[in-house]
Amino acid sequence: MKALVFYEHGGIEKLQIADVPKPTIGADDVLINVKASALNHLDLFVREGLPGLKLTMPHIPGSDGAGVIAEVGTNVRGLQVGQRVTINPGLSCGACEFCVMGEHSLCPDFHILGEHCAGTAAEFVRVPARNVLPIPDDFPFEQAAAAPLVFLTAWRALISRARG
Ligand SMILES: [Zn+2]
Repeated sequence: MKALVFYEHGGIEKLQIADVPKPTIGADDVLINVKASALNHLDLFVREGLPGLKLTMPHIPGSDGAGVIAEVGTNVRGLQVGQRVTINPGLSCGACEFCVMGEHSLCPDFHILGEHCAGTAAEFVRVPARNVLPIPDDFPFEQAAAAPLVFLTAWRALISRARG
């Protein structure tokens, strides 16, 4: 598949389009055929390099994205191939005390799609099935991709933390 990648940290000149292997999915995952991928400041931090961030190169950036389900894992229920979805880029274990309380970002295993693992700037991205949300047929992929990371960050700050 085609993907936006970088082989080493640095400026925008490090980005290039490359042919990379299409991801394979686990039993609890879905494979998304990405139709839109959005940019966050995190993508710039990751490309430039963060202290302690060790990536497998080449790295595919991109936390936010929306697309169509191309494959579903054998354990996945309630989602099907061809479904239009947006992606929640916050990845957590789903089982620890924090995940069970809904405080996914406090999970010891919390990470963000595109920061520590292959992201959405590609034809296909693998995500856990619990990280996708169906979108209406007439909802544009570009808008569905633009919201999740910034929206969830603001929502958590205002509603969960400040209880505004
Ligand atoms: Zn957890």
